[in-house]
Amino acid sequence: MMASSKSNQSTNSGLQDMNSDTNDDENGELCPGFKDVDAFVKYGLGAVLSATKASAALPQAGDEYDFYRSFPGFQEFCESQGDKLLHCMSQIMQHHGCRSHMRDRNKLTGQEERFDLVVDSNDVILERVGILLDEADGVNRSQQPVMPAGFQPPKIVVSSWNRKGTGSGSRSEMFRLLHAKNVTRPQLKFKEKVDNSNTPFIPKIFIKPNAMKPLPSYFTNKQIRKERPEDLDVPAALADFIHQQRTQEHVEDMFAHPYQYELDHLTIPESFLSKPVAQMYKPMDETRCSFIDTLEDLVALNEKLCKLPEFAVDLEHHSYRSFLGLTSLMQISTREEDFIIDTLELRSEMYILNEAFTDPAIVKVFHGSDSDIEWLQRDFGLYVVNLFDTHQASRALNLARHSLDHLLKHFCNVDSDKRYQLADWRIRPLPDEMVQYARTDTHYLLYIFDSVRAQLLDFNHGQPGLLQSVWNKSKDISLKKYMKPIYTEESYLELQRKQKRSFNTQQLTAFRLLFAWRDKLARQEDESTGYVLPTHMMIKISEELPKEPQGIIACCNPVPPLVRQQVNELHLLVQQAREMPLLKAEIAAQKKKGLTPIKKPEVLLFGPHDTSRVSESDLHPFSPDELPVKQGMLFSDDEHKMDVDVQRTSGLVAAAKITLFEELETQNDQEPLPVPQMKARRIIESFENPFRMYLPSSDVRVNKNAKFDPSSKIFEISKRWKLQSIEQQQKELEAKRKAKEEAKEHIKKVAEERTKAKQSYQESLQNVATVRQQAAESEKGGGKKRERVASEVGESTPKPSKKLMKSVEKPQKTEPPPQDSFKPFDYSQSDLKVFAGNKAKDNTQFDPSRQAHGFKKKRGGAKGQKSNFGAAGRSMSYLAGKSDRGFRHNWPKR
Ligand code: AMP
Ligand code: MN
Ligand code: ZN
Repeated sequence: MMASSKSNQSTNSGLQDMNSDTNDDENGELCPGFKDVDAFVKYGLGAVLSATKASAALPQAGDEYDFYRSFPGFQEFCESQGDKLLHCMSQIMQHHGCRSHMRDRNKLTGQEERFDLVVDSNDVILERVGILLDEADGVNRSQQPVMPAGFQPPKIVVSSWNRKGTGSGSRSEMFRLLHAKNVTRPQLKFKEKVDNSNTPFIPKIFIKPNAMKPLPSYFTNKQIRKERPEDLDVPAALADFIHQQRTQEHVEDMFAHPYQYELDHLTIPESFLSKPVAQMYKPMDETRCSFIDTLEDLVALNEKLCKLPEFAVDLEHHSYRSFLGLTSLMQISTREEDFIIDTLELRSEMYILNEAFTDPAIVKVFHGSDSDIEWLQRDFGLYVVNLFDTHQASRALNLARHSLDHLLKHFCNVDSDKRYQLADWRIRPLPDEMVQYARTDTHYLLYIFDSVRAQLLDFNHGQPGLLQSVWNKSKDISLKKYMKPIYTEESYLELQRKQKRSFNTQQLTAFRLLFAWRDKLARQEDESTGYVLPTHMMIKISEELPKEPQGIIACCNPVPPLVRQQVNELHLLVQQAREMPLLKAEIAAQKKKGLTPIKKPEVLLFGPHDTSRVSESDLHPFSPDELPVKQGMLFSDDEHKMDVDVQRTSGLVAAAKITLFEELETQNDQEPLPVPQMKARRIIESFENPFRMYLPSSDVRVNKNAKFDPSSKIFEISKRWKLQSIEQQQKELEAKRKAKEEAKEHIKKVAEERTKAKQSYQESLQNVATVRQQAAESEKGGGKKRERVASEVGESTPKPSKKLMKSVEKPQKTEPPPQDSFKPFDYSQSDLKVFAGNKAKDNTQFDPSRQAHGFKKKRGGAKGQKSNFGAAGRSMSYLAGKSDRGFRHNWPKR
């Protein structure tokens, strides 16, 4: 973490001196030896870099290290240096108010816990840095200037301290953290609104190029997807029923991987399994680089890519000022050219690349694609068929490190640095440096693809086994499904467990309420939870339970804008927590159920997505017989009556009457509502309609026009694939008919099983079933998928016809795959348990831990070294915050 002892000393003295203003003034220096912050930062980062290099050069754990350790001199030296380092780290942690018993060997069972400490501290420090940067930039949502349409942000906006150093220095010594000021929220321009609702993710696909199995009608049928059941001219109860029927029928399709079948039947073309002659990359400065930000260019690029045997892809992503994250850039390199795609601009059009991305004859080369695969699905509905991940190759080759930097150095002797990795990729226009950086991520990748393939074959004495295993691993990654973070009543416990703090009941209640508040606000405002309220501040508030709003502010340094804005709301939550009877922490933690006793007025659950209970302060006194009967009704056909009820019992009924499917009416300036009613209203407003995905979105207009404008290129592509899919559907029917005749018995069995599955599914259908299914599916993971491949391989699966539909100019190629290429899906081979619900526990409840697995790999997992340390991915707290979320969702009963 920290550099040599020399830099420790200067860092320490620096910190001390920074506090004494007089010193600064006298010398005109920031601190001794450094004339300004730039100089200090430059020196500091240089020191860190050399320390990192030095530590990488240390004997590797394992044999090498054990050997060295047999020399007492080495051992002594290690110990003394180790102590120094731990001491230094302890000091830094203390300085930041983190737990810091790094050196106290008794208190720690080992490396893992120490590592946790470091990760936690990094979290705290980085979060603080992020917020300070925001503050320094004057980022305050409420005061954010509205930028004129033609406004161009300055090319590079940097905070003063990370401005380029004036002195000379080698490239690698100059660090720059790009932090954009006043970036317009790209979300504002999105044609389709971001869906932060607390509902499982449903694939965004509606056209399926290169299909061997047609896209399920759920995705192609606009009616099903967009029609609001409550818009039908039928009583509410019937609409409700219709809705259930619709979703039930499609539930398998809704959460399946749209290209599962194609991926299961993917065979890597022979040419990619034999030893290639590595084709040297073109020098970067002789390579054309195009910036793609129009639909026209994107379509042209797609046509170009469809003609190639392979291309390289990478993405850049932004996650701080968005709840789910935003894919901000896509880089594509061919052997000849580089392309940078503005995916914020073309977000709704990116799907057309599916034609090239899902073509099994074209290899898509990525490096560390775990996250990329998820981002592509989440933001664009893009899927990858025939992926080669060079990170997996690096692992199979057992290279020293598996980062892209390392491969670049190893194979291309290119010195790269990842300093822009965490830049704000929303900045437009992109500064040149960032474009260059982004290009580097894909420019050399095809050459690396050649090189690693050659080495994988050499490594294995010419046998394709090792190479094949990389293709397989890559395929597993492309089978990953994006999972949306789902808030559950127990999500907070998972985060709390990770913190390893013991809370008493009041503290834990505060933590729970703050967690819920943060999640709700983050979704609503489309911000990361780390932006709304960093975890370490949330803990501080929970631990201190400040009596005054000012006390909450005091727990936060710097104060997150939304905390400042809603400090009174937060104060109410803390007050509620303080009213909890005090229980010992251990009991509290163990008996978590006891924390939500059913009727006790102290339990003031104010979850953002649970409107079935409202805080005590919201309740007007009412007698039991006044209790509204209709609480929880989704489709009220009796609004007036409900309104009367609302008047009578205000807060409670307001919350209980979940008029989910109403657009929020703009309030006419009536009398101001009483506080509890206001609050209840806010809760209702915060409740996102879980069926939003079925509702017509008023925002989707622009893209649609493009799609149905026959003159547009998109239309051509859509039509092409639609035609094919119609043909295929006919083929499918034909195949089904045949299969029926040939194997009536079999079909019968399948049908039986299917009914059984449906039945048990129905039994467990408590809305959440879909989430559970998603989780169960993802949990089964690669192993199960492999099984199916194996079982189906024997069944004379035809190879996908090479480049099914290359381009419009080659209509003769438009013939669909041979008749027998489509097999009706064999349900006897699918895992029916998926529909059976959780054997254990309450059938209607979703087990958060199950889906949580799907999240484990999230970010760090993509990179080799990081995934060695499970926790390393947590180094950015706001990311962890998301992935830590549990997954059982408390949907209203229907
Ligand atoms: P890369 O594939 O290295 O270009 O990274 C793609 C995106 O992943 C970046 O734009 C970042 O948003 C994100 N990312 C990469 N590494 C990290 C990290 N260590 N912590 C957080 N985010 C990361
Ligand atoms: Mn990447
Ligand atoms: Zn990248």
